Amino acid sequence: MQFVSLNPVNKYDHMSDTKYVFVTGGVTSSLGKGIIAASLAKLLQARGYKTTIQKLDPYINVDPGTLNPYEHGECYVTHDGAETDLDLGHYERFLNVKTSQANNVTTGRIYQSVIEKERRGEFLGKTVQVIPHITNEIKERIQLLGNTGEYDIIITEIGGTVGDIESLPYIESVRQLKWELGGNNAIVIHLTLVPYLSAAGELKTKPTQHSVKTLMESGIQADILVCRTEHEISDEIREKLALFCNVKREAVIQSIDASTIYDVPIMMQKEGLDTVTLQKLALPDTTKPDLTQWNEFLDRHKNPKFEVTIGLIGKYVELQDSYKSILESFIHAGAINEVKVNVHSIHSEYINASNLEQKMMGLDGILVAPGFGERGIEGKVMAVQYARENRIPFLGICLGMQMVVIEFARNVLGLKDANSTEMMEDTPHPVISLMEEQKSVTNKGGTMRLGAWDCELKAGTLVQKMYHGETAISERHRHRYEFNNDYKEQFEEAGLIASGINKATNLVEIVELPDHPWFIGVQYHPEYKSTVANPHPLFIGFVKAVLAHKKQQTNASLA
Ligand code: GLN
Repeated sequence: MQFVSLNPVNKYDHMSDTKYVFVTGGVTSSLGKGIIAASLAKLLQARGYKTTIQKLDPYINVDPGTLNPYEHGECYVTHDGAETDLDLGHYERFLNVKTSQANNVTTGRIYQSVIEKERRGEFLGKTVQVIPHITNEIKERIQLLGNTGEYDIIITEIGGTVGDIESLPYIESVRQLKWELGGNNAIVIHLTLVPYLSAAGELKTKPTQHSVKTLMESGIQADILVCRTEHEISDEIREKLALFCNVKREAVIQSIDASTIYDVPIMMQKEGLDTVTLQKLALPDTTKPDLTQWNEFLDRHKNPKFEVTIGLIGKYVELQDSYKSILESFIHAGAINEVKVNVHSIHSEYINASNLEQKMMGLDGILVAPGFGERGIEGKVMAVQYARENRIPFLGICLGMQMVVIEFARNVLGLKDANSTEMMEDTPHPVISLMEEQKSVTNKGGTMRLGAWDCELKAGTLVQKMYHGETAISERHRHRYEFNNDYKEQFEEAGLIASGINKATNLVEIVELPDHPWFIGVQYHPEYKSTVANPHPLFIGFVKAVLAHKKQQTNASLA
């Protein structure tokens, strides 16, 4: 077999000075690689380095868009319409920088692209193999962002755990890139677990040693170790880890459990993760990170003056990660309002007429979550009705907005059995239905209305006030079904108005009830755009309204 040299590195003779940091994981999954990567990126960004993060996922789905939230948590949508891993949400929330399709790559996408090239005859009759074709494709994807020249540092998080069969081509690509780019241009941070054995009363370093060894068997020496732990790691253990894992003492970084993920950048700064990274990359370490805004946010988040409880009505509530961006948006908006937002998850499938009152008891605000399929929708409709009739601040997101339309059609317009054609194809009143373009779509992956779409806000409406008087906004979408314009007049006459419209397509993006203290349904997902530096105006307004409602209720009960 002849070795085919398709070295993507050499293809770029204008190679930029971009530096690469790879983050791998060992011992176990769920150690929080995404948060460590995002925290390091935050620290480097706060020193003035242009930084972005990328996630490589070893599974064979082309993207997580077709994954059930129970499998992999929320699917995060970028402005350019990519359905991506939820870690990209963390990157955007931490960095306040937009990510794109290029920031998330899966094995499925790599193989799809290589196989398409093979079909086009691009490999000129050669045998297509994992090495070099798959690894070259991976290396090319890794360098796509770097070669734009926009960034000083690219942090690439490798999904999965070192030693997994499916991670191997990624690890091999990292090895090759490290070798090709040179020691000061590409480094590896390995995240491992240092477990505490209560019977022995000791922290154990052996799993980390083994995991570093596994990485070395693939030809990679970790440059920095980040050790997840529940107890402080002593100097002695740090020395031991350094010696046996072949890293410098200052490159052993402790990552102890934090009460909030937003503490992690500060903790990593104290541990010197940014300093040692810059040293290894031979980059100047002259400016201190400017974390003023970040610390202000943390201070407000940790010292709230008020507390409210918002019910999150959804059907994937067993898994917190399913609604990650919504929960984080409440943290951002809560901090701005100095409010601790307790999110009380309620499974919509278990809401019925006889327990509705009891389930909604004590809620100061109600949010009906996005979702797909029929399961649990009647519970959502009931929650909408409860919020509307009891004048409780309400936000409906995507499917939640569609539930608003259905509830209003049934209970106010008297259109019995009104529904979305997603749930009941032959409903007599399809108040939510498919757009013409969607009717011929059969493939499920990547075919929804995705990414950023413009929306024009109606003057004098509540949403316009929430968006500080703006008339044109852009928000991210992920859905197939739409408000049916045939019913628009009927709705508006009865008091549910379309306060946001996409001018180009005439699609209704926002509905609201002017005759209610705060009641908004949005066809888009505001939660994808909320960041620490830029909390989303709808969430800010919602939390404010919820607090006002709570105060009013308390005053009323005292009077
Ligand atoms: N299932 C609905 C649709 O496809 C809503 C999707 C969502 O909530 N993201 O239109």
